[in-house]
Amino acid sequence: MLKEKLYDILSSKTEEIIEIRRYLHKYPEISFQEFKTAEYIRDFYTGKDIEWIRYPVGLNGIAVKIKGGANKNTKKRKTLAIRGDFDALAIQEETEVAYKSVNPGAMHACGHDAHTAILLIVADALIQVREDLPGDVVIIHQYAEEVSPGGAKFMIDDGILDNVDAVIGGHVWVSYEPGIIAVRAGMAMAGRSYFKVIITGSGGHGSQPHKCVDPILAASHFVVAAQSIISRNLDPAESAVITFGRFEGLGKFNIIPNNVTLDGDVRICSESVSDLIEKRFTEILAGISAAYGCSYELVYEHDYSPVINDEKLCGFAEKFINANSIPELKLIRGEITMGSEDFSYYQQKIPGLYVFFGAKPGGEVFPHHHAKFNINENCLVNCAKFYAGFTIDFLESLDN
Ligand code: MN
Repeated sequence: MLKEKLYDILSSKTEEIIEIRRYLHKYPEISFQEFKTAEYIRDFYTGKDIEWIRYPVGLNGIAVKIKGGANKNTKKRKTLAIRGDFDALAIQEETEVAYKSVNPGAMHACGHDAHTAILLIVADALIQVREDLPGDVVIIHQYAEEVSPGGAKFMIDDGILDNVDAVIGGHVWVSYEPGIIAVRAGMAMAGRSYFKVIITGSGGHGSQPHKCVDPILAASHFVVAAQSIISRNLDPAESAVITFGRFEGLGKFNIIPNNVTLDGDVRICSESVSDLIEKRFTEILAGISAAYGCSYELVYEHDYSPVINDEKLCGFAEKFINANSIPELKLIRGEITMGSEDFSYYQQKIPGLYVFFGAKPGGEVFPHHHAKFNINENCLVNCAKFYAGFTIDFLESLDN
């Protein structure tokens, strides 16, 4: 059986997968600067039996095609893409692990080192059984997931999804115990928009506000009114988050400043909600400007769409996990997270599934993006087995 053969190969790579993950962890590079990491990934494929490798795709990505053997699917030969990201975060690591980051101000604090180790090892195993594969596989090593505009968009524009039927990806997740695979049909992660507002008044002496146009008062009304969009304009069955992360009016205790800069983050479940929030921002700002005599500038940018999982692929994944060919894995229905992912760009082109792999370490658990973040490495091989087994089921499936 092909799956068992793959699982055996992957079991034999338990140490190698940890070694790769630790190497990447030690030499992290932040988004859009992950050049050495990309070269390391490219070099991994040197001399391997692949159809092609493309590098760089976009700024810094790598795509690899593994061509299968005889096509047992008489209706259609399928191609599945598996995507993993490889960028790190601008965080100074504070763990005490032996493989702690040696690059100042950079840390794999989200587990993308693990994603890359998993993906390399899966690719290697699939290459070893290439002639028995009932279809083709494209491996996507994506740069710059963490920082907008992300790498996905550019890699897709470069054609990596051409002739690909579906895409799968996943994230190690420290809220879940190792072995858990969280799958959720429909929306799994929120979309995100960014905004910046500058409200301009006219500054002056703190004792003479009647001779000024106070932008702090106007901006304060905007902050409060913006939350009424959630409570009074949004359909209560939908959800969204509006967060102001910056409120900067650089006066002094007795000086009314000329302007205030605000910026923040919007998380949404659909793009129409983002459009609604943008429209209401404009209307409220126009109203506040008229009421207080100030002026405003608004920048509103939609970055990532929600991650929406294809129902059929979810069904495949659920069936595959419940069939218990990997006894360590346990299926749960994933929670919706209001975090965002540029995996959504792939899903706008072709059906896609994004899952969460339990990776909770022993001892104290620090959240993703924390300077003491770490994962449980025992989950890695099972994540690789999931990708490998899912790939076979998908390529063998006879529908369309
Ligand atoms: Mn991440």
